[in-house]
Amino acid sequence: MTSDGIVDEILSTFGRCGHLDYGEHISMQEHMLQSAFIAQSHGEPEPVIVATLLHDYGHLICNLPNQVFAQGRDNYHENVGADVLAPWFGPEIVAPIQLHVEAKRYLCATDPAYESDLSAASKTTLIIQGGRMNYEERQAFLKRRGSAMALKVRQYDDLGKQPTMERPELDYYVPIIRRCLMT
Ligand code: FE
Repeated sequence: MTSDGIVDEILSTFGRCGHLDYGEHISMQEHMLQSAFIAQSHGEPEPVIVATLLHDYGHLICNLPNQVFAQGRDNYHENVGADVLAPWFGPEIVAPIQLHVEAKRYLCATDPAYESDLSAASKTTLIIQGGRMNYEERQAFLKRRGSAMALKVRQYDDLGKQPTMERPELDYYVPIIRRCLMT
């Protein structure tokens, strides 16, 4: 696949699966677009905007929809998304995508206010995803490449769950995605 091919693939995946329920009364696509816009509004550089836009890409492409969490199972969407995007984007984008669930576990362990502000759905998935990190897990997390970016992406992720929001459509991000491709 060419770099044009992966952009087309991303767009068609959003078109095919973006309507899926995110579980916060909004669709997956709405959640990802809101999160990306919030990252941009915070003045983040393009790789952080793209990482935020695509952080839940794995939810769109994994065979197990988000609803598996309701059955107490994990779909490991962070790994699914990171694996598919890794040939096309550098670690500054792929690592935060892969670590955005771990970032939630880190933030819950270090900031009680963060955990209490989480949405009900996110509190439920936290348990399935391993709960708060212990000390050793936190130390290991901070040493991982991309963990600082993952903490940022996570906070934009948590804010992108509004019933409605004025925000750009997916097309707006296409040139930004293209500039962030490795090839
Ligand atoms: Fe998310």
